[in-house]
Amino acid sequence: QLTTTEIQAWLADFAEIITENKDYLSELDTPIGDGDHGNNMNRGMTEYLHAFETKQPTTISDTFKLLSMSLISKVGGASGPLYGSAFMNLTKATKDITEITSTTQLAQLMKTGLVGIQARGKAVVGDKTMVDVWSAIVEDLENNTFSKESIAIAKDHTKNMQAKKGRASYLGERSIGHIDPGAASSALLFQTLLPYLD
Ligand code: ADP
Ligand code: MG
Ligand code: MG
Repeated sequence: QLTTTEIQAWLADFAEIITENKDYLSELDTPIGDGDHGNNMNRGMTEYLHAFETKQPTTISDTFKLLSMSLISKVGGASGPLYGSAFMNLTKATKDITEITSTTQLAQLMKTGLVGIQARGKAVVGDKTMVDVWSAIVEDLENNTFSKESIAIAKDHTKNMQAKKGRASYLGERSIGHIDPGAASSALLFQTLLPYLD
């Protein structure tokens, strides 16, 4: 089960791994973007940690809401409102629950997050964005194949795609051969979730 405690521990771990991987994520964003994805995400997650101390949310829904607001207000880049939409949909979808009790339920919730990203950004699978990782992990959760390896595969899969959305799309075919930074940060999000699912 994932109670508020586990969700909050997961998101604190995500904040930590984002800081550790800040330079890596910005390096991924350099050849196919503007080199700021790690800094953007780190700014957003640092804001989340500060807001968490101040607001001390006590439900899963309020925790997702705080994360969403922090990302929307502080990230700056395209990824802010996109992750923000995912976590705003999760805020709504967890309004009446105190815990997540099954992988099926978790899959449904992550699906609402994916729907939020797609509603805002209009990207589909294969466009070389964070959508490629979110949609793969929704399927993995549904099929019970969610693992460290399946997350890594979904992230690496973006390498040979041509970007159709976001800054990387301006490069056309030259976007091929580089892992998408938003796919990489999403992979970190789901990697940090794994230890809480046993
Ligand atoms: P910016 O491009 O504004 O500098 P970031 O560098 O923080 O923003 O984020 C870039 C990431 O955002 C990309 O790697 C991609 O995963 C994601 N992204 C950009 N546009 C879209 C979109 N329309 N739909 C989904 N994801 C997108
Ligand atoms: Mg960028
Ligand atoms: Mg930018």
